Formats: sequence, C-alpha cells, structure tokens
Amino acid sequence: MEVAKTIEKVRSLVKIARRDGRKIGLVPTMGALHTGHISLIEAAVKNCDFVVVSIFVNPTQFEPGEDFEKYPRPLDADLEICKKAGVDVVFAPSPQQMYPAENVTWVTVEKLTEPLCGKSRPGHFRGVTTVCAKLFNIVAPDAAYFGQKDAQQTIVIKQMVADLNMPLEIVICPTVREPNGLAVSSRNQYLTAQQNKDAANIYKSLQTCRRMIDAGTTQTHQIIAEMRKLLQQIPSGQIEYVSIVDAETLESIEKIAGKVLTAVAVQIGPARLIDNILVDAGK
Ligand code: AMP
Repeated sequence: MEVAKTIEKVRSLVKIARRDGRKIGLVPTMGALHTGHISLIEAAVKNCDFVVVSIFVNPTQFEPGEDFEKYPRPLDADLEICKKAGVDVVFAPSPQQMYPAENVTWVTVEKLTEPLCGKSRPGHFRGVTTVCAKLFNIVAPDAAYFGQKDAQQTIVIKQMVADLNMPLEIVICPTVREPNGLAVSSRNQYLTAQQNKDAANIYKSLQTCRRMIDAGTTQTHQIIAEMRKLLQQIPSGQIEYVSIVDAETLESIEKIAGKVLTAVAVQIGPARLIDNILVDAGK
C-alpha cells in the first residue's frame, strides 16, 4: 500500500493503474476509521481493481466553533486498517496541499442543502461538495463510495455529479450500527459510556417511525411526536431536528407516501449525532 501526501503522487499512482485498465474506486473519509468506513472500503475493494482512500479532515466543512481542532486524527491506526482491508493508496494530504491559497472557488448545490443539517450548518455542504469535487478531479475515480448514514450528503453529492456531468458512479452503502443500534461514527468517541447507551434511543425512534408507517399511520406529525418522546428521554440530549421528508427532494411532507427519508439530529453532551432511515411506503 502506498501513502500519498501530495496531489502529484496520488495522480501518478492512479495514472499507472488506469493505464493498466483498472477500475478506480475512491472512498473519501476524514479518518478515525471505524467499521462504517471499513464497509465502504470493502465494497470498493470488491467492485474495483484499484482503491484509493482519502483521509482529510476538511476545514471548509466545519462551522466556526465546531470540532475541527479536536477531531481525532489517528493516522497510523488508519493506515493499518487500510492496509488490512486491501487498499492500494491512501491519499492523506495536508490542508496546505488541498487549499494552498484562500479558496475563492466553491461548488454549491442549492435547495437540497437548505433543510435538515443545512439549517444549523449553513456552510457545511458547500465545504463537502467543494472538497469532493476537488477529490474527484484529483483521483478521477470510476466510482466513489459514500455511507447512507449521511443521507443528505449522499443526495447532495449525487446532484452535484449529475448537474456537473462528472464521469463517475456514486455508490451508497448501508449504515453500520453498534450492537445497541447507534450508528457508528467517529464522533461517538466523544460520548461517555452512559451517553452511548442513552444514544440508542436515536435508532429506537427511527424504528418506531418504521413500525408506525408499516402499521398504516400516514400523518407525519403523529410519528414525529412519538419519536420525540423517545429522544426526550435522553438525559443530556438536545433535539436539533426530527424530520420526515421526501427522499428525493428533501421537502417536508405531512402525509406519508412513496419513498420517505426520516432523519434525526441530536446533540448529546459534546457530540452532534445524526441518523436516518429510508422507508418506501408505496402509494
Ligand atoms: P466521515 O469520515 O465521517 O466524513 O465519513 C466518510 C464516509 O463514511 C461518509 O461517506 C460517511 O457517510 C461514511 N460513514 C460514516 N459512518 C458510517 C456508518 N456508520 N455506516 C456507513 N457509512 C458511514
């Protein structure tokens, strides 16, 4: 496995692989790799011939006052995980490598970035789309792998790729969960053992939503009320949003129909946690 710290190096390695006719897969991450990331890497290794994992804590997707400085950066452990998983290249650039001068060019996806996480993190998706566009230009992958855990991100990235005619496939992998149902996240390590236990109510609330839809409840306000009851039981929890939206447009819906995305954001102690489920309620 090669470790490329510069754009020049990763480009030269990919160039050789491409010349050999290999299918290139990219897994963009911010590091602190866990079983969620590993599932994306495994999917890439299975479906591609040459896999690049990028590890970059992207400053432009953090809001002022967020955890950019204290975000975990265990690079050596991450490299071990990548090696074991069969990764060909880890691209681990410095902020200076990715943003050598003040960034005045941005990729902005409109509308889809306004609801849900966009409300409390107004600059977040602009940072995500900009860094992903840069990574796609640097690595030129045939396919890039993202997790359903960040549902709004997957929809925003897919829209960017379609709108800008980027020649790659976006593959979405299922959310990996801890045994108690909590979605695995690099930020879970900010939680105490008790908070981790309490955070299981996030997934419980999503399961309640699925059960109510399966049982025929169609009024979203009724479902949201039941979900909120569970989330309010989290002692150090502060609900940011509980939303049921159209799974494609992300617009709020009052009545369940077709494919819906139920998404939750809760602050528990120092960790802002998000989770979601997709439900196809038919007609
Ligand atoms: P991050 O390092 O948090 O930026 O995440 C990198 C990629 O891993 C994103 O596409 C995430 O959606 C994905 N990811 C993070 N957590 C999980 C999880 N629990 N299950 C599946 N994918 C995940």
